[in-house]
Amino acid sequence: MNSQEFREIGKATIDLIADYHDNIRNRNVLPSVEPGYLLKLLPEDAPEEPEDHQNVLKDFCETIMPGITHWQSPQFHAYFPTGQSFASMIGSILSDGLGVIGITWNASPACTELEVVTMNWLGKLLGLPEEFLNCSEGPGGGIIQGSASEATLVCLLAAKDKKIRQLLENDPTLDEDQTKNKFVAYTSDQCNSSVEKAGVLGSMKMRLLKSDNNGQLRAQTLKDAFEEDKAKGLIPCYFVANLGTTGICAFDLIYEIGPICQEEGVWLHVDAAYAGAAFICPEYRHLMKGIEYADSFDMNAHKWLLVNFDCSAMWVKNSYDLINAFDVQRIYLDDVKTAAKVPDYRHWQMPLGRRFRSLKLWTVIKMYGAEGLRKHIRDQISLAQYFAKLVQRDERFVVEPEPSMALVCFRLVNGDKITRDLLDNLTKKKELFMVGCTYRERFVIRFVICSRFTNKEDVETSWNIIKEEADQLIPEKMN
Ligand code: PLP
Repeated sequence: MNSQEFREIGKATIDLIADYHDNIRNRNVLPSVEPGYLLKLLPEDAPEEPEDHQNVLKDFCETIMPGITHWQSPQFHAYFPTGQSFASMIGSILSDGLGVIGITWNASPACTELEVVTMNWLGKLLGLPEEFLNCSEGPGGGIIQGSASEATLVCLLAAKDKKIRQLLENDPTLDEDQTKNKFVAYTSDQCNSSVEKAGVLGSMKMRLLKSDNNGQLRAQTLKDAFEEDKAKGLIPCYFVANLGTTGICAFDLIYEIGPICQEEGVWLHVDAAYAGAAFICPEYRHLMKGIEYADSFDMNAHKWLLVNFDCSAMWVKNSYDLINAFDVQRIYLDDVKTAAKVPDYRHWQMPLGRRFRSLKLWTVIKMYGAEGLRKHIRDQISLAQYFAKLVQRDERFVVEPEPSMALVCFRLVNGDKITRDLLDNLTKKKELFMVGCTYRERFVIRFVICSRFTNKEDVETSWNIIKEEADQLIPEKMN
């Protein structure tokens, strides 16, 4: 493909995507394909000769599009949002267009420095304590990781390294491997699967401690777990607090838990993958009270902040904890020796290579402005509250717990089985998409405002679809 052909197919691709968004309401959220559909449709071997470029888009529409779940559909209410916006796509195109990898500062200075700038911008917008910011006096700073899962694992590995260094300082005769085997990580039973997986990948026992009735992990529970383990000769090392759990979007009380971690010398990582975005609105910052106790904090700009996957924003108070753990030198990888405030990000992450991800964060922040982003969060929360009101008006349903952020959990009063049937039937219909979870041992359906296109009418449409299905299951309306 030459550059002229690229201009043509590039413009056609942009048109295709713009048309897709303009007409997204005409599609069912869920596709009507069976497992293996694409395996049957596409040839078994790669084409030997280049194909006509025009055909590629045609093929895309005919074979790939039918197997797409439309995450940006206004009727997509499952999981949590995956961020997307035209502004972000511009950043992605620029990044792909440049095709640079920021393995060192020299490898593309702007790649490193734009990340520093945008992470300072975002950190300030979220109201993070100064110590987390690269622009502060200390060794803190932010980095874009690929996912919240990676952030949790990177911090677990750094916590392990920090702890063993501290112990070896006190007793250089310690057997390093045997001691590391005694390290324990903790989180609540409401944690995302990725947190549990970090324990598996990082070879550290991860205890999922029982949360209270509201899905919050209480300080006493954590304290008791530390004491129990120490009595067995184990060593508490790492704790992951959840600000916005995946199930019901509950918030651990960091101001309660933080001092206990500090006292015990346990690394406190905060997983605010979804709900963290709301902290750009000052009225939600009380939910991160005690954040100054954290060693690291992570939120996914690629969830609720309109940035396309992947862009997980992670800050640490002391970047040397990462550098000490992950610095592996080679002659061909020259560190920045002059400017202390210009990080060598490869020591802060797992891979060597790093994409120019800050470009899409930069285009989003510039094109929306902080006020535009705050409006997005506030609008989505008020749409969720509107949905909750619609549900509450129907006596067949209960909203439980209280809606949190842009998530509403609800169930039928007639029990778990019928609530599950309702969700199954709705999923089969494919017009809207939600998933379930449990709250106080009851099955609830999660309804999340995900798409940036969702408006009040769409919420009403979703509710009417749900109500119609409920009418099939419970014909005798109580209301
Ligand atoms: N933490 C929480 C609370 C989440 O809800 C999720 C995903 O939904 C994750 C972590 C994992 O995020 P990622 O896919 O970026 O690893």
